[in-house]
Amino acid sequence: MQKTHVVIVGAGFGGLKAAQALAKAPVRITLVDRRNYHLFQPLLYQVATAELAPADIAYPIRKIFRGRPDFGFHLGEVQKVNLAEKKLYTDTGDLAYDYLILAAGGETNHFGMESVAKNSFGLKDIEDSIVVRNHLLRMFELAGREQDPEVRRALLTFVVAGGGPTGVESAGAISELVGLVLPPDYPHLDFSQVRIILLEAAGRLLAGIPDRLGDYTFRALQDKQVEVRLNTAVSEFNGEKIILKSGGEIATRTLIWAAGVRAAALANAVDSPKASLNRLVVTPALELPNHPEVFAIGDLAYFEQQGRPLPMVAPVAVQQASHAAQNIMRHLAGQDRLPFVYKTPGILATIGRNKAVAVMGRWQFSGFFAWVLWLNVHILRLIGFHNRLSVSFSWAWEYLFYDRVVRLMMPDIENLREKYVRKP
Ligand SMILES: Cc1cc2nc3c(=O)[nH]c(=O)nc-3n(C[C@H](O)[C@H](O)[C@H](O)COP(=O)(O)OP(=O)(O)OC[C@H]3O[C@@H](n4cnc5c(N)ncnc54)[C@H](O)[C@@H]3O)c2cc1C
Repeated sequence: MQKTHVVIVGAGFGGLKAAQALAKAPVRITLVDRRNYHLFQPLLYQVATAELAPADIAYPIRKIFRGRPDFGFHLGEVQKVNLAEKKLYTDTGDLAYDYLILAAGGETNHFGMESVAKNSFGLKDIEDSIVVRNHLLRMFELAGREQDPEVRRALLTFVVAGGGPTGVESAGAISELVGLVLPPDYPHLDFSQVRIILLEAAGRLLAGIPDRLGDYTFRALQDKQVEVRLNTAVSEFNGEKIILKSGGEIATRTLIWAAGVRAAALANAVDSPKASLNRLVVTPALELPNHPEVFAIGDLAYFEQQGRPLPMVAPVAVQQASHAAQNIMRHLAGQDRLPFVYKTPGILATIGRNKAVAVMGRWQFSGFFAWVLWLNVHILRLIGFHNRLSVSFSWAWEYLFYDRVVRLMMPDIENLREKYVRKP
């Protein structure tokens, strides 16, 4: 007799954890993803700023599950889920399931601003981060030979939108790239002309952390020559000029968009109620309403606790994954399913060398100790000894020698994709 078949869509933080948590269950698992690797998204900005190589933060899915006979990987993009027939359709074939865990994550949200979607840079996958790295380095090459001072100034103006952890960390990392690493490469360029601007639509940075730490982050960024503009929202960007909602303008070639996320497009392929940011509404046990065999977790799922939706962060995805796996096992054993309760492990964000903020239960701290904690937590969360070693080495190298070794401009990734990547 065939074992119960659990299909998991997405090999991100949630999907991977769910597959691991079901290791001892009497089930057959198929993990589906459009890429063949798990990506550690929190460090994407370090690939974009030439500190880490793409392979440092990606890990092959098949390698993670080596030696598990009941595990299968299906490379493909899910295009439709038929809840009534318990089937899903991918661009590389169809799959039937007994249980389904949807963990397809999120995608960049430009809030309907077409010009921003078209001309800004995202930070959601490896390709995005290589495109940003290419672009940042190209701006210095162009500025180095630009005669018109106004154009040069625009080339050397780097704007990040979004004062959450990704925006803060990206602005800090660009500031260190520009301030500490690149000057010896461009001895004839006047680096005092470089501007790094962080725009945040709300009145403070890092919403969700105590005010004291938000203020610390603001000051730490200013110390790194980042101009932080609060209560400032973008309305348009044509690739040469940002127009602000307040009416002001910023001449720049670079807008990195870290200001919004919504559920992955897969949500549209599932005929089930959605809530804000197009996230799939789930029951307290993390199932889709009227479909107890289908679970949604992580960024894709809308789950309220104490009247507020859970944030789109990795710990939510990981905890929900364990819980969904546990509920499947309970159901198989004829037991009732349990409601999910999120336990926040704390908040960490770095602003650059020696500077970070941390909230751990009752403890709040900032500065060097928070930074060391941030480094260790990120090293431990990476998958694979090689990646941990490689990232530790790159960080130590940069810390000691003010050098980022991955200052490589690759051929245009979009063209590469057209030329070499063929659908199977
Ligand atoms: C730049 C950046 C920085 C971040 N920093 C932090 C941080 O510091 N701390 C923190 O806690 N969180 C951070 N996050 C958020 C965190 O990465 C997400 O909350 C987390 O990854 C969500 O996990 P998930 O399993 O729901 O989805 P993901 O980890 O996004 O995984 C989704 C997977 O589904 C696959 N997929 C999507 N659609 C399909 C489809 N149709 N068919 C097949 N496969 C599909 C994708 O390829 C991907 O592998 C950051 C995110 C970004 C982008």
